[in-house]
Amino acid sequence: MSPDSPTTILRRVFGFPQFRGLQEEAVRHVTAGGDALVLMPTGGGKSLCYQVPALCRPGMAIVVSPLIALMDDQVAALRQLGVRAGALHSECDPAGARETAAALAHGSLDLLYVSPERLLGGLIARLEARRIALFAIDEAHCVSQWGHDFRPEYRGLACLAARFPGVPRIALTATADRRTRADILASLAMPEARVFVASFHRPNLFLAAAPKERPRAQLAALLARHRDESGIVYCGARARTEQVATRLRADGVQAVVFHAGLARAEKQAALGRFRAGEAVVMVATIAFGMGIDRPDVRFVAHLDMPDSPEAYYQQVGRAGRDGAAAEALLLYGLDDIARARHFLARSQAPASQLPALRARLDAMIGLAETGSCRTGALLACFDERLEGPCGHCDNCLAPRPALDATIAAQQLLSAVYRTGQRFGLRHVIAVLRGEASEAVRRHGHDRLALFGIGADRSGAFWQSVARALIGRGALVLGEGYATLALEGEVARPYLRGEQALHVAALPAPITPARPTETGAARSDVDDALFQRLRAWRKRAAEAQNLPPYLIFHDATLQDIAALRPDSLGGLAQIRGVGSAKLKRYGADLLVALSAR
Ligand code: ADP
Ligand code: ZN
Repeated sequence: MSPDSPTTILRRVFGFPQFRGLQEEAVRHVTAGGDALVLMPTGGGKSLCYQVPALCRPGMAIVVSPLIALMDDQVAALRQLGVRAGALHSECDPAGARETAAALAHGSLDLLYVSPERLLGGLIARLEARRIALFAIDEAHCVSQWGHDFRPEYRGLACLAARFPGVPRIALTATADRRTRADILASLAMPEARVFVASFHRPNLFLAAAPKERPRAQLAALLARHRDESGIVYCGARARTEQVATRLRADGVQAVVFHAGLARAEKQAALGRFRAGEAVVMVATIAFGMGIDRPDVRFVAHLDMPDSPEAYYQQVGRAGRDGAAAEALLLYGLDDIARARHFLARSQAPASQLPALRARLDAMIGLAETGSCRTGALLACFDERLEGPCGHCDNCLAPRPALDATIAAQQLLSAVYRTGQRFGLRHVIAVLRGEASEAVRRHGHDRLALFGIGADRSGAFWQSVARALIGRGALVLGEGYATLALEGEVARPYLRGEQALHVAALPAPITPARPTETGAARSDVDDALFQRLRAWRKRAAEAQNLPPYLIFHDATLQDIAALRPDSLGGLAQIRGVGSAKLKRYGADLLVALSAR
């Protein structure tokens, strides 16, 4: 049998006309027998980097993955494509495991997904006599002791080099940092591997951030733009996920909760609903994420600010993996900044790590507050330079000039000082704006010289000045964030007007809708037809007990609705329609398309 070329496999099996970015080079390198380390953002298309070589090379490919849900998903997706795939892990149902073991014995598997424990615990000896196409090590950052997902079993994978000489290995991860990268190469004993680093720019992801003013209304506005779609709402605390979900349900949203405090069965149920549902909103703490590769997540909202650009990037990256437009909204407030500073101050982390943690937090605050291109600012955190503004963030859409807040900073710090550093921001702002509330009068603060000095500025403006000063460490919040005080050394130059302060003009409290058009083709999509195709897909998915996105992605259905092919040949031209799916669903689709 003459081996097929990578491009032939890509077109015939996966139905994609061409490789994306670095995929082609990585695929060629591994197909030719080379070792590789592939760093690509979530949604970048890592799977194809080993799946195509697996089908090009003789023998069975072994894919090591730490995530059971992900393995099962990949296997189901590959079977839909007509690829002979199976998985062996601790939660396989017995019948499925027997079937896979039999296929393994017959040598009739193209790809076998295994957990590292399974592979190293016995399976490996059975593979030595076999022809192995390649080893893929997915989520390879798990090998790194520095990462938060460290899996000691991953260390054992180093033995593959000696036990399977000549079999290429490809390690894949979405974690880009240099230390992890070096650690992976060393720990897997693949110093010669070629390293492929993709751009972390995600052009289909619309980024926005806004001060938390009316979080409920702000979230509602976002959800209104995504009525029949799925998304993730991240909260900083478990209790908050429950509150938010309860409110959303009252508004008719299908909200599911996930956090580390749930019982195992509850977690499973929540994940199951998220994976299978058409329009489920997951309200979760950061415990939710790894291993979720639902491709059609249309939005990610943060009701609390993450503590680093890395965390933020990973979390928003869960939206739009299918390449269609997706949206991320970050709401941030004084409380976030204060809480993060507070945690840092009492952190148990070794003293040597504190400066780095502080720098990451500052970078995150800067990212939230920036008035310039947000995508550019985010990528800069990973040493990637964007040429020009991105055109798909809130600041690119509605530029916000920088305002000189040097005098305002002076006034605000003075007001904190004059009121005795015993009051919260609301009180201080009331004094500045000349609002003689009961408390202001009771303390005689309406008689201060600076009472009403900032009446011409909005409360939101004063809040942004306060956040900026807290972000820079000139102001600190007391226990429970109820009171503000000056941090002498840092505050002094601001108080004297020697240190300038700029803040970006405020965004509209409800961020403008992202543009719905993402490509020329999108405007041609017949929405009624698209909805009909989704309804068809839902039935097809239910009949096979699979999540709908495994049948076809939204992007594929959108293209079908836009192009309205009237023959199997026409359908085959659409990206995402490979030969197996064409055979399985083509005729049905043509019927659904012609029914008017
Ligand atoms: P990752 O594992 O890097 O997060 P995936 O491998 O899941 O990303 O791919 C993300 C999405 O991109 C999937 O829906 C996949 O089908 C799609 N995709 C990957 N490569 C291509 C390509 N060359 N052309 C079109 N779509 C692709
Ligand atoms: Zn931008």
